[in-house]
Amino acid sequence: MHWPTLFFCPGCLLPSMMSLCDSCKRSIQPNSLPFDLEREGLETCYPVLISAGTTRNLLRRWKEKRGNILRSHLFRMDPALQRSLFQLDVVAVVPIPQSPNRSERRGHASSREVARFIAERIDRPLVDLLDLQKDDPAHMTGKSRFERDHSPNPFRISENFSAAHPLFQLMEERVFSGKDIPLLLVDDLITSGATLARAATVIHGFLPRARIYPSGLGLRPSVRPELPESEFPSDVPEVRSRSDPDRSDHFP
Ligand SMILES: [Zn+2]
Repeated sequence: MHWPTLFFCPGCLLPSMMSLCDSCKRSIQPNSLPFDLEREGLETCYPVLISAGTTRNLLRRWKEKRGNILRSHLFRMDPALQRSLFQLDVVAVVPIPQSPNRSERRGHASSREVARFIAERIDRPLVDLLDLQKDDPAHMTGKSRFERDHSPNPFRISENFSAAHPLFQLMEERVFSGKDIPLLLVDDLITSGATLARAATVIHGFLPRARIYPSGLGLRPSVRPELPESEFPSDVPEVRSRSDPDRSDHFP
């Protein structure tokens, strides 16, 4: 007897005929409104998606395991958000640097991937302005907010960003003419804004006139009080009882 190949939706892990089930596709929460993260040194934040419920599951799986199927569904920008980003008229899109070991294990540098996606959407150059401190591979993940705020800054200005860089002169000209330098600083997922704020501190030390607009693929609604998480669909979709004959007998 030949059994058809069974696919599992990468969002809910339920059997699915397609790569991503319709329920998970519909539950992806795009974000259209920039808002304030209320972190010192950071301007208005521009997250692409609201990371709650199924969207949060999908984002986590994409971050840990990559996957082009997830990428194609998650890397979509609300037209209103794209217009707001255009209007910012940033000089460059700067990714948050990630440890090469971790990126290698996961098969991708997720923040750089998100930064490249946004840079293409708004037609601005992607610039690796930041690097990790050589001797401090401190990871923010899994640390409390207190620990995040009180450990040494893991970032530094990249050695590759020197006077020879094409954007260096443009930034210098802006400084001499008294203009601000708007930059879009991009992480993969924004949980508290602490990582972005620390990266902003390093950039401000180097470019005091920088105006740093944070962005990311997903934002936890917990850092945005006007978006209560309870209004979003739960992480695990309900299994409909009619698809389970044993249960429907007991619960008519
Ligand atoms: Zn699904």
